[in-house]
Amino acid sequence: MYIGGGSIKRSGLYDKIRELFKDFEVSELPGIEPNPKLTSVEKGTAICKEKGIQVILAVGGGSTIDASKHIAASACYDGQPWDLVKDRSLVAGALPVAVVLTICATGSEMNSGAVISNEKTHEKLEINHPLLYPRLSFCDPTYLYTLPSKQTAAGAVDILSHVMEQYFQPNDEAYITDVLSEAVMKTVVKYARKAMDEPENYEARSNLMWASTIGLNHLLTVGKGGAWSVHPIEHVLSAYYDITHGVGLAILTPAWMEYVLSDKTAPRFARFAREVFGVGEADDRKAARLGIEKVRQFNRSLAMPSTLSEAGVLEEKFDEMAAEAVRTSGIASRAYVKLQVPDVKNILMNCK
Ligand code: NAP
Ligand code: FE
Repeated sequence: MYIGGGSIKRSGLYDKIRELFKDFEVSELPGIEPNPKLTSVEKGTAICKEKGIQVILAVGGGSTIDASKHIAASACYDGQPWDLVKDRSLVAGALPVAVVLTICATGSEMNSGAVISNEKTHEKLEINHPLLYPRLSFCDPTYLYTLPSKQTAAGAVDILSHVMEQYFQPNDEAYITDVLSEAVMKTVVKYARKAMDEPENYEARSNLMWASTIGLNHLLTVGKGGAWSVHPIEHVLSAYYDITHGVGLAILTPAWMEYVLSDKTAPRFARFAREVFGVGEADDRKAARLGIEKVRQFNRSLAMPSTLSEAGVLEEKFDEMAAEAVRTSGIASRAYVKLQVPDVKNILMNCK
């Protein structure tokens, strides 16, 4: 059983699960950290191999689930776990993973991705393989009631960002996918603050939980194609500074939108502004700008920081981080607007 830093012990979920499994032999790996580290994956892999673990139960959020997925694949591989991140063709098997979800954000409960940080190399990379889909996930909105305001906000920003990444792609016309995406984005905007103000509001928690799952279970990529834009930059920030994923996204997203706004992108940004935020402006360029301001306002309403310095990210690493974001992603070759290293650096400068 794989668990995070202890919230499930405080909430009582841990005792409930241990009681349910009292007739089974269970090993534990507590202490999986936010932005899960390769060292946790290595520890978990060793436990699985030593004890002949047959099923992994991930109880927690994206960090615990992602580490569990990587452990599941590493347990069926003879070499080092990081090899699988570098070359997914080496994934030949994986233990079955089940999930009890306690924070809604990543969609990891119903997708085949896992993001792992290598603390030695400052790389935060995704391993994605069909064998990594959880076999089942329990998504009970009442498990979100203990989620602190800051994590609720960061999760909401992450969900919105996942949908935006898929909505703004080079191949961006797919009617049903667009309309579904707009519904999910509106849901996040409607309920995020409510869930912070009223942690036990079932309607808010359940709508956000479902938004997180369908926001990144590949439903909203149907008919789309291309690389993501903001996540690759954020992954570098959290690899270097270990900041909360949603916080990095909140700072970068409006800056990215501003940077790539042009005559070509304005109609799509305008549609986003009108459909998601109800902007009434007829002129596309003006509507697009208002949409960017709405994203900023939304982030402020969730008490998210708006600059990198507030999040403790320093300018001295901007060159290195911009190069790393381009090197480790398709941002320069397949993104909505292709960005080279100087562009990414400019975006970071605009977030100072
Ligand atoms: P998380 O890192 O799993 O958890 C964040 C914090 O929330 C932890 O401190 C955790 O505490 C706490 N928490 C979780 N549930 C709680 C509850 N019910 N009550 C109180 N506290 C609770 O958050 P996440 O946003 O789900 O995952 C972030 C990671 O996923 C990042 O590494 C990000 O890059 C990655 N990610 C993955 C995907 C994907 O598709 N796989 C997509 C986007 C992002 P405890 O540790 O004590 O439980
Ligand atoms: Fe994300």
